[in-house]
Amino acid sequence: MKNISIILSLAGLILYGCATVPVTGRKQLKLVSNSEIIPMATEQYKTVLKEGPISSNQEQTAMVKTVGVRIQKAVEKYMADNKLSKELEGFAWEFNLIEQDVVNAWCMPGGKVAFYTGIMPVCRDELGIAVVMGHEVAHAIANHGRERMSKGLVTQMGMSTIGAAMGQNPSLTKQIFMQSIGMGSQLGMLKFSRQNESEADKIGLIFMAMAGYDPNEAPKFWERMKATGGGGTPEFLSTHPSHESRIEELKAAIPEAMKYYKK
Ligand SMILES: [Zn+2]
Repeated sequence: MKNISIILSLAGLILYGCATVPVTGRKQLKLVSNSEIIPMATEQYKTVLKEGPISSNQEQTAMVKTVGVRIQKAVEKYMADNKLSKELEGFAWEFNLIEQDVVNAWCMPGGKVAFYTGIMPVCRDELGIAVVMGHEVAHAIANHGRERMSKGLVTQMGMSTIGAAMGQNPSLTKQIFMQSIGMGSQLGMLKFSRQNESEADKIGLIFMAMAGYDPNEAPKFWERMKATGGGGTPEFLSTHPSHESRIEELKAAIPEAMKYYKK
């Protein structure tokens, strides 16, 4: 009897704990709130930046910030136009370039973006940066970190832990956050499911288009990535589909993104 009530309340929690992804409308699990996650992400972001080092290349840094702010503004307008501004509560966007020769970039919950100098030759210019930026911002807007953390709670932890994670036990909440988001190591960042990656690609195309960047650049960027041999770094490559299928998926999503494209 006790088990049944636990199952019922878990089912109730899952039904209740649902959110809708902006742009795609997909339903996703939500067992923790952004007000719990964002402060942890912000703290973690500060730690990463302190380890840095922040790039001294002013030209590249300016490009990353320019593209970031342009996409941020476009996204904020889109969210306002669709009465979704509440979803951005607690967001405080930052765009930084870290001096490390790794082909990677990521965005933490709440809009904390980092690019590594190693990805800049593949990006080449603002347009290439916009491909990566759109994808990373999409992860944050789609709350993929929160979704992953919620799934982790259901699959790995028990009911009691879910209760704890929902605010009763801050240190346990933080521990689960670190495990879910995979922020143990300096470069170990958000590892998302393949479904999340494909969704971020699709939303990212739309975001770059809204900011005035031609989404036709995205398959070209991934052709360049393929040519570099693009090996095994976290977030940006690990759980992604193969370059080939990714390029095909992106090409198929371009007509939809072009509807948002403003030159
Ligand atoms: Zn990704």
